[in-house]
Amino acid sequence: SSAEPILTVNNIEVIYDDVILVLRGVSLSVPQGEIVTLLGPNGAGKSTTLKAISGLLRTENGRVTRGEITFMGESIANADPETIVRKGIFQVMEGRRIVEDMTVIENLRLGAFTRRDGAKAIKSDLDMVLDYFPRLRERTGLAGYLSGGEQQMLAIGRAMMARPKLILLDEPSMGLSPLLVKEVFSIIRTLNRELGITLLLVEQNAKMALGAASTGYIMESGKVVLDGPAASLMDNEDVKEFYLGGG
Ligand code: ATP
Repeated sequence: SSAEPILTVNNIEVIYDDVILVLRGVSLSVPQGEIVTLLGPNGAGKSTTLKAISGLLRTENGRVTRGEITFMGESIANADPETIVRKGIFQVMEGRRIVEDMTVIENLRLGAFTRRDGAKAIKSDLDMVLDYFPRLRERTGLAGYLSGGEQQMLAIGRAMMARPKLILLDEPSMGLSPLLVKEVFSIIRTLNRELGITLLLVEQNAKMALGAASTGYIMESGKVVLDGPAASLMDNEDVKEFYLGGG
């Protein structure tokens, strides 16, 4: 890719609880303005890679014990999550961690918690997010009553409220119907295209993910085993057999 990397992960090792070695030297690069996807079987270490980048690893007693993570030229490995959010990285966790007993608007405002640019800018972004997700505008009750698809959209909208440069998205298609998966992916592409947000996307749905991404990485057992342009991964025989349902 011709674009400069906004994020570089260089040979990181991650250990949980001081003993459990989960990432064994993972390297990847995310070009500015692009969508990159991270694929692989359950337990390969995809979520751990995202948490290492966002700093959320700390909340699970995990640590980067070797290697480097560089975001916009600055080292961020083992920095605290709030510092990382302020630098412009926001992670949307697996399973749509919205706050069920708060309203849609309250959930969206949570995304802006680290911002210091004032109520007016935040209100204007709130309107922008609701323009991207018109269905959320109609939902005035508690977020717990939203459908699965609406909750996923709310989780993405909340990330947008942080004005991130990079969104880390963990399995946005999880538990959604095929129609909603399409809708969520269409929103992901729109955010990338219209707002210039760079995305690193972990997915089980390899077909949708490679369709949206410029580059893909495939992980197994804590390592990257294959990477390349998304289009060539889609043509790769192993990828077809193991990840694209026999192609
Ligand atoms: P999945 O799709 O199942 O989330 P994944 O590729 O995202 O898979 P991870 O969730 O990163 O994989 O898990 C990688 C390995 O790390 C697994 O063996 C898992 O059991 C282990 N692991 C994950 N979180 C922790 C934790 N907090 N403490 C100890 N081990 C963990």
